[in-house]
Amino acid sequence: MYALKDRLFGLIRAKGPIALSEYMRIALGDPELGYYMRRDPIGAAGDFITAPEVSQIFGELIGLFFVQVWEDFGRPEKFHLVELGPGRGTLMADILRAARIRPGFGAAAHITLIETSKALRALQARALDGTAVDWADSLDAIQEHGPLFLVANEFLDALPARQWVKSERGWHERMVAAEGNELIFAPASEPLPPAMVPPMLRDAPLGTVIEIGTEAISVVRKAAARIVRSSGVALFVDYGSSESGLGDTFQAVKAHRYADPLAQPGEADLTFHVDFAQTARAARNEGAQVFGPANQGAFLSTLGIEARAAALKRAAPERAGEIDAAIDRLTNAEQMGTLFKVMALAAPDSTAPPGF
Ligand code: SAH
Repeated sequence: MYALKDRLFGLIRAKGPIALSEYMRIALGDPELGYYMRRDPIGAAGDFITAPEVSQIFGELIGLFFVQVWEDFGRPEKFHLVELGPGRGTLMADILRAARIRPGFGAAAHITLIETSKALRALQARALDGTAVDWADSLDAIQEHGPLFLVANEFLDALPARQWVKSERGWHERMVAAEGNELIFAPASEPLPPAMVPPMLRDAPLGTVIEIGTEAISVVRKAAARIVRSSGVALFVDYGSSESGLGDTFQAVKAHRYADPLAQPGEADLTFHVDFAQTARAARNEGAQVFGPANQGAFLSTLGIEARAAALKRAAPERAGEIDAAIDRLTNAEQMGTLFKVMALAAPDSTAPPGF
């Protein structure tokens, strides 16, 4: 039996079944035993791989993106450069290296990494050794003055969401309950009041699942409000859909394979696909402009991934095969090219950021 599973059993015995969002918050974020708190999950020896770990080109292009944005903003002398969920710190290191083509950029950037895991903060400190960086637990810690340039890769998918399932008695929130020695999914005892069910869902077939990315919506809304107040650009990259759909996207990944999301809480990564339509709506409600979501492959092509790859291959011909494989992984429609989307937010009076 895993320690975190015991703790969840205790909680469920005391309180009754818990919402899926609560389960995910504990499984990933319990301060002692949560999945992200104790390990480096990213890379070949871990559970999953992310774009900045596939190739340095990903972060370099995002660095050039922000240099261009900085120039479009008239080279502000001070701005916040913030990353949400920086993992091993690779993306920020690659951004800053590429941005050295404009020395004023690094000098003007006040860098903050939003990260809850101490284990990962330590890796980020190592990756960014020699750079002045602050850490914070949430976007609320970023002071209000100066534009905000924000990036988040595979962050929104790690945030808790809620689900409702259609049954004969209505729409019930999907909960996590205990049965014998196992955690199981179970419907909440009371259905949603019928008046709360949107008309388009009233005739949905039994078993239909809807998901609401409550926390992703809240983060995107905060970023949007901040950008509308004091300008800036936010870039969210993640897997998910451009249009809202029905269905269950909750998944667990362990050692690069899908796993049972309830079997080993704290031992497997848990994610949802990001519903970009939901988050875009939240950003527009705050008055922000929304660009995209564009497919990652198309976005990286527009930013010049092929030219950057050719330059790297000229500098290191012996690595040509490896570089081609990485580009394929990032841009091919059958790999990360279309499942991954890129969405940017800006203030109403901003011009379109590069790549859109
Ligand atoms: N962006 C990185 C890592 C993605 S994994 C990459 O592309 O490689 C998700 C990251 O978000 C991890 O660093 C994890 O610790 C962090 N994280 C997850 N939930 C968080 C939360 N609620 N607040 C801050 N960071 C969080």
